[in-house]
Amino acid sequence: MGHAHTLFSQMTERLYYGDSYLTSFDADVVALRSVDGAIAAVLSRTAFFPTSGGQPHDVGTLDGAQVIDVRDDGEVILHVVTQSIAGQVHGTIDWRRRFDHMQQHTGQHILSQAARRALGAQTLSVHFGDEVCTLDLDRSELTPDAAAAVEDLANGIVFEDRPVHVRQVDESELPALGLRRPAKTQGLIRIVEVAEFDRSACGGTHVRHTGEVGCIKVRRWERHRGGVRLEFLCGWRALREYRWKSLLVADLAASLTVAEREVPDAVARTSAQLRARERTVSELRDRLLAREAAELLAGSSGAPALVAAVVSHPADEAAVLAARLTASESCVAILGADGGRLIIARSADVALDARAVLRQALERYDGRGGGRPEFAQGAVAAGQIADAVETARTVAAGLLGRAER
Ligand SMILES: [Zn+2]
Repeated sequence: MGHAHTLFSQMTERLYYGDSYLTSFDADVVALRSVDGAIAAVLSRTAFFPTSGGQPHDVGTLDGAQVIDVRDDGEVILHVVTQSIAGQVHGTIDWRRRFDHMQQHTGQHILSQAARRALGAQTLSVHFGDEVCTLDLDRSELTPDAAAAVEDLANGIVFEDRPVHVRQVDESELPALGLRRPAKTQGLIRIVEVAEFDRSACGGTHVRHTGEVGCIKVRRWERHRGGVRLEFLCGWRALREYRWKSLLVADLAASLTVAEREVPDAVARTSAQLRARERTVSELRDRLLAREAAELLAGSSGAPALVAAVVSHPADEAAVLAARLTASESCVAILGADGGRLIIARSADVALDARAVLRQALERYDGRGGGRPEFAQGAVAAGQIADAVETARTVAAGLLGRAER
């Protein structure tokens, strides 16, 4: 192959293929490259796992440099580092992160086989995230009982602490192996086998015994592209999730003063009470506004009635009040509401442009606003609202051709 790239680089020996538990190693820096403006080191050998097969990359150090990203470039692995390195270097892997990925990855193999055996479901794709892992099944739906059956089968395999073997086979041997997940590569194929349970072609890192996976928990699921996407957590992640969720449920139960299992009923009861009270409050507010509108009309004179008042309501309630005032009676309503809001409204039979009243009234206060001919609103500084209502009343009276009282 006359490719410049292959002439000047050598294949990186992938130490993680043979030993997922190797956390430190020595290697030679073969080349430095530029990857998206960062320095990427090519090594003679590496224990760093590159992002591939859905599994996230390792992090760690190469001498004094931080390894922040690891990419698979086919023949070589690219280690994106925070500073330049050269010669022979010592590499260390962040084991906590790696072991977490090993738990999730091995757990996924077990879960996929469990879904196949319990439901006849095939795994279409997997994703390993920093917080949650997902698995897509070729099922249009999943019942809680079916999910529990898959979970039970998977955790049974964990508790039996079965060995997990990794080996390389030639592609000619594949048909006889009955793989759950077919190989995507050719030549020598890496096979990961959970003893007497699952056999897949996979290039990821796995634990040696299923017991190390810890609890496998299906967290939730939803429909996704015609199938079901389920979220799962393994090992430490499952424990951490259980920890905060049990505290959460205990807190909820304490604040609702019920037993933990009664939390859903208590929340449903409380929500129903809240909705009933909201209806009551809404009815009472309507009656209050109707009475207030009647009182304001009774205190006004002329035709149309000119109502001008500062009311103790937020703007939305004042707007409802204005609508009540102008709904049937021949009326012009000028209302000042909380926060310096000014509302001008008029009945359909009154020839007055509410926007013109607002505009002229606001000139003096550096206020802003707008609206329709029959309803306009604006705002002034809260301390000026009584003054602004009076000004608007004078403006409206003038536009209606009425002498000021
Ligand atoms: Zn795997």
